Amino acid sequence: MQIVKLPKQNLDKFIKSLSKFGQIYAPIKKDANTSLFSKIEDSSQIDLGYNRTLLPPKKYLLPPIDSMFRFSAEAGYEEVEHGVDEKSILFGVHSCDIHGLRILDLVFSGRYVDNHYFTGRKNTSIIGLSCIPDDMCFCRSMGTDFVENGFDLFLSDIDQSYLVRIATSLGDDMVRASQSLFKEVGKEEIEKHKKKSNEMQKHFKTDIELYNLPEIMDLEYESKTWEEIGEKCLSCGSCSMVCPTCYCYDVFDELSLDGKTGERKTRWDSCLFEDYALVAGGTNFRSERSARVKNRYFHKHRGFVAQYGKPSCVGCGRCIQSCPAKINVVEVITKIRSDAYV
Ligand code: SF4
Ligand code: SF4
Repeated sequence: MQIVKLPKQNLDKFIKSLSKFGQIYAPIKKDANTSLFSKIEDSSQIDLGYNRTLLPPKKYLLPPIDSMFRFSAEAGYEEVEHGVDEKSILFGVHSCDIHGLRILDLVFSGRYVDNHYFTGRKNTSIIGLSCIPDDMCFCRSMGTDFVENGFDLFLSDIDQSYLVRIATSLGDDMVRASQSLFKEVGKEEIEKHKKKSNEMQKHFKTDIELYNLPEIMDLEYESKTWEEIGEKCLSCGSCSMVCPTCYCYDVFDELSLDGKTGERKTRWDSCLFEDYALVAGGTNFRSERSARVKNRYFHKHRGFVAQYGKPSCVGCGRCIQSCPAKINVVEVITKIRSDAYV
């Protein structure tokens, strides 16, 4: 992988030159405590030091509400314009969120390939950005604090400059389009990068032990801990809504008042919602909150591992930050592990 250096004073010019490659979306500050991915026009809008955005960048590839098609009695089915054919750039994506997109790629390329998702994915380039973990980040435990692929360029902060890893030919084109902004990397920059990487490790305050976790989950299927967490859970679904790897959605029809036309849409769903496992006839397979909480943890740390060989959690900490009941995935996993070793 080729590595070059981008002095920070050249970032603005580089962002301007990137606009030739598509509409840029990057993290911006909404208020003192909230950052979110948004359309940007110049680099001054970008919140380069953000921890985590409210919603992950998956919102551009799997929108919270999306249209599938329109229908009417006269015209039958009509396609809708989604904009997925337009080129876009997600700038400033952290390593954990790039891993989150890789997990969605796995899911949507499975038995039933989601062409709609992959059209958007193909037209979206990713420019990663290094970060400093806070006390809710546990990406190191999940092996997602570093990323080797799934991006076009990756910028690592080395104080006055960024080290830029070029991972694809598109990334190479982006650098070549403004070649004069980039410099060669020397020994000094490599040393700085190593120092910054070591410093980053010192910021981690939170770790979880993944060793034999799927087996522990099986052994603790009947643990009282699930009931205790179920007692606290409000079934609000926030943890799913903010999660970069949750992909469940519901399908519903929106009809015009005269009932002659309508639109079929998708909407993010959550396995924590009371009616998630409600089926025709009124049976609800997970009517208890404890069963729904347990299902979420089993899916991410047991079922997904069995199917894809890794958990569907990237340790971003968003669910910890957003849970109004203060349910913390790290504490839950630690408690389940301790239940198994009493
Ligand atoms: S489960 Fe929580 S920590 Fe893990 S990826 Fe989802 S939001 Fe992030
Ligand atoms: S965010 Fe917390 S309270 Fe809301 S559904 Fe998730 S675990 Fe339950």
